[in-house]
Amino acid sequence: MNDTTEFLILRHTDYKESDLILGGVSPYGQVSFIGKGLKKTTSKNAHACRLFSCSLMQYDKKEDRTIHLMKTASLIDSYRALREDLDLQILASLIAEIAMKIHDGNDLYAMVRKAFDLLKNKEKPFLVTAAFLSDVLKREGNQPMTDMCVRCGSTKNIVAYSMEEGGFICRDCYNVKPALLLDVPTLKNLRILVKGTMDQIEYMPEELDKPAVTRLFLESVVYHTGIRLTSMDFFVSWYPETLG
Ligand SMILES: [Zn+2]
Repeated sequence: MNDTTEFLILRHTDYKESDLILGGVSPYGQVSFIGKGLKKTTSKNAHACRLFSCSLMQYDKKEDRTIHLMKTASLIDSYRALREDLDLQILASLIAEIAMKIHDGNDLYAMVRKAFDLLKNKEKPFLVTAAFLSDVLKREGNQPMTDMCVRCGSTKNIVAYSMEEGGFICRDCYNVKPALLLDVPTLKNLRILVKGTMDQIEYMPEELDKPAVTRLFLESVVYHTGIRLTSMDFFVSWYPETLG
């Protein structure tokens, strides 16, 4: 039987001398393929199996398996910019690792493709990644509270943000236990990001497009989901700045 599926390649793992295991997401969720001979220079499929590529995979489907033997791969979108631009590569690596480590679901493919489609335009890449991370927080049931103080429910005198408690903090509560002190424009922008989705990037403020914003949401995802990210250390050392 020849089965086909669209597949976004998010992880390469060496396997045997000349094979690769391709990890990624399809419209059915997280899945892996064994690609025979992909490391050989003569491989006809290698160009369609690069990291971050989206390809149509032909394979033999084995029910109850999450790893299949690939027959052929044909390129749908190479997402070349994500491999050639260092900023985009770092951001795509974060998105890819998170998509492979959070709960499986048939929504992941559309989420990651949307993020990659936006990233390859090279417009507001840090905001695109922050919006992806914000969507991950919503998906995992940890959307930050930005309508009121997360501790007391007050809507007045919001002055800070608590990553651990997941939301805004008012002045009275801040005086009891400090959090990340931010100015009002920054708090308003964070609220826009939390309330929005990746589809609204073009309407979101330019000020949100900075590594410190991405980092805040990245730390939130790691804190609230408990996943460990090897790509996070690199992000933090490359972009050391933080908000506040
Ligand atoms: Zn409060």
